[in-house]
Amino acid sequence: MKQIRQFALMALVATGVASSLLADSSQAASRRFVAIGTGGPQGVYIAVGNAVCRMVNKSAAGKKNGLYCSAPSTGGSVYNVNAVRTHELNLGVVQSDVQQQAYAGTGKFEGNKFEKLRTLFSIHPEPFQLLVGKNSGINSWADLAGKRVNIGNAGSGQRGTFEALMLAHNVDGSFFGKVFELSSNEQSKALCNETIDAYGYTVGVPNAGVAYATNKCGARIITLQDKNVARLVADNPYYAYSTIPKGTYSTTKSDVKTFGVMATLVTSADSSEEQVYEVVKAVFDHLDQFRKQHPALAKLDPKKMISDGLASPLHPGALKYYKEKGWVE
Ligand code: GLU
Repeated sequence: MKQIRQFALMALVATGVASSLLADSSQAASRRFVAIGTGGPQGVYIAVGNAVCRMVNKSAAGKKNGLYCSAPSTGGSVYNVNAVRTHELNLGVVQSDVQQQAYAGTGKFEGNKFEKLRTLFSIHPEPFQLLVGKNSGINSWADLAGKRVNIGNAGSGQRGTFEALMLAHNVDGSFFGKVFELSSNEQSKALCNETIDAYGYTVGVPNAGVAYATNKCGARIITLQDKNVARLVADNPYYAYSTIPKGTYSTTKSDVKTFGVMATLVTSADSSEEQVYEVVKAVFDHLDQFRKQHPALAKLDPKKMISDGLASPLHPGALKYYKEKGWVE
């Protein structure tokens, strides 16, 4: 009798294990993944991408329907657009100037138009910040002549904006003493150990990289308001004047006037309507929580997020949500 009972117990346990294994494997099979390309570890994109993922993973789509979101660090905007095109990533955070050029096939994307590029929404403003060393003696673009300057790594959006500025000022790399192609993760350290005299960074405010350079070695952001910048802004709808308010960083003693772009979240027309809808819904249904994830997100306004800085058509999954909300016709 005792033996029979033992056997029955074992059978019961075995059935339980089997059924829980079955549940696990069917859960794994129904798991869906969404990957968002961001930027360097000291930037804002990585915080934004992870904030979007936090919303998605907590949402009904994440909890009940097996959608799992991750936001790895990448080389930046240009890398993200290219990875979305090849479906290596589902979504990417991308500067509005890079988005415009990729969709229209201009600038860096000349002859390489990404017609299937689609937008979810725009996010935070990204002023272009020219950071200069405390003792560099640089106070204007003209002062960069002969200096050691980081223009950014090849996949970054900051590199794109820097090249647009060089074009606007009619100079090439020979204008500088030495050109560096450091990533955003390397540039603040390089500025503080005086390997470089300046770097240009298109990034949301505030961010850890600029905070490091201003706190650690007194680096300054300089005003960029010459006639070539004025022409750049006048000629390109995706550039706008921007101000970094005094007090933002330890060395920002007065307002700094510059120009900048918007950060946007993009995908490919090939992405499923359902998945894009789920991401958009997770963010906008919990916008108050989303705004608290990073100071650069604090002032997000849904009306602006679905109109400002968009250079490619809205993805149908995003449009579906905005129509449900009555935000678009
Ligand atoms: N705008 C930068 C780029 O596209 C990234 C800024 C960030 O990481 O927040 O390279």
